[in-house]
Amino acid sequence: MHPPIDSKLPRVGTTIFTVMSRLAAEHGAINLSQGFPDFEPPARLTELAGHHMRQRGGAGNQYAPMTGLPSLREAIAAKVAEYYGCQASPDSDITVASGGTEALFCAIQAIVRAGDEVILLDPAYDSYEPAVELAGGRAVHVPLQRPGFGIDWQRLGDAITPRTRLLIINFPHNPSGATLEPADLAQLAELLRGTGIFVLSDEVYEHMLFDGRRHQSLLRHAELAARSFVVSSFGKTYHATGWKVGYCVAPAALTREFRKVHQFVQFVVATPLQAAIADFMRECPGHSRELPAFYQAKRDHFARLLGETRFRFEPAHSTYFQLVDYSAVSDLPDTEFARLLTTQHGVAAIPISVFSADDAAKSERIVRFCFAKHEATLDAAAAKLRSL
Ligand code: PMP
Ligand code: GLN
Repeated sequence: MHPPIDSKLPRVGTTIFTVMSRLAAEHGAINLSQGFPDFEPPARLTELAGHHMRQRGGAGNQYAPMTGLPSLREAIAAKVAEYYGCQASPDSDITVASGGTEALFCAIQAIVRAGDEVILLDPAYDSYEPAVELAGGRAVHVPLQRPGFGIDWQRLGDAITPRTRLLIINFPHNPSGATLEPADLAQLAELLRGTGIFVLSDEVYEHMLFDGRRHQSLLRHAELAARSFVVSSFGKTYHATGWKVGYCVAPAALTREFRKVHQFVQFVVATPLQAAIADFMRECPGHSRELPAFYQAKRDHFARLLGETRFRFEPAHSTYFQLVDYSAVSDLPDTEFARLLTTQHGVAAIPISVFSADDAAKSERIVRFCFAKHEATLDAAAAKLRSL
């Protein structure tokens, strides 16, 4: 018999991504739920990983430096300079982490103290709130506006109190695909000016914006960047979600605190994978440039297919997710509908109410599909969805 546990996370179950992917596997459903590609990373990238793993006599398979391989931190610095005009120092401002998830967790542990309030914009990615709670903080939920999932500036302003320590934002937004405009950065800077609030900006979908949209990284805005941790993930950009390599860019003083946590959560990230990504970023810079068109073609293909169903939707502006309104098909709450869709109709989706704290979200009839799939996969899924 073990002693009573008195859980630190009493309200947390198993993440919806694990639940839905498991259900899809059990029922042989086409898995459009958890976000990951069903195609391979670039061949050159996996070749480079193999090359670095096979190196003899060096330290290529041993611990990397705690902050990340210098070659990768330099490649990240060059990238944020080129894309966002941000001069980040590889030595003091950039840390390689084990995926976006670890970077988010470390930033939250580094900055949130007992009793602090942390503002989340709902629907919010599911790893944020448990990390806040483990740090002793309290999540304050502010819904994004409907339709469009933009920031409700009035409600955000109203949610700020003297206890607010951190604001977590995620644009391009999972699950809605909402993006920021330059005016949003200006408004955010104005809202936070003179406060002691830090920002954690989850930008893992930074290279997947469509129809000519430009990613408004907080790194573009010097005033915001000075109070921000900006997190990204190579898993999304290089079709390699299983590699779990990401990074955090933050000013030196913030990075120092970030690294104090990172060194005891993860310490170091897989060395050959870091080396391969660093080489690939230099050799193939075109990959990220071509990503918007690559995913826009998939979005358009999926939208054409969905157009032949009774689902209603506005084509996603970014990310590899498409929200659909299923109210013409079913009256069930989204968690039940996603389960039914998976078990009875052979297509797995993610219910989005689980990412929101308020009851209004429970009455929405919306699920999320991932379109980072071969056309044949999307065609097969659509054939099933057409019968609904
Ligand atoms: N943030 C968001 C919004 C995501 O969708 C994901 C995706 N998986 C992550 C963070 C985590 O990224 P990683 O897989 O690199 O940990
Ligand atoms: N971020 C991915 C999604 O939104 C999944 C990541 C995960 O499984 N934790 O589907």
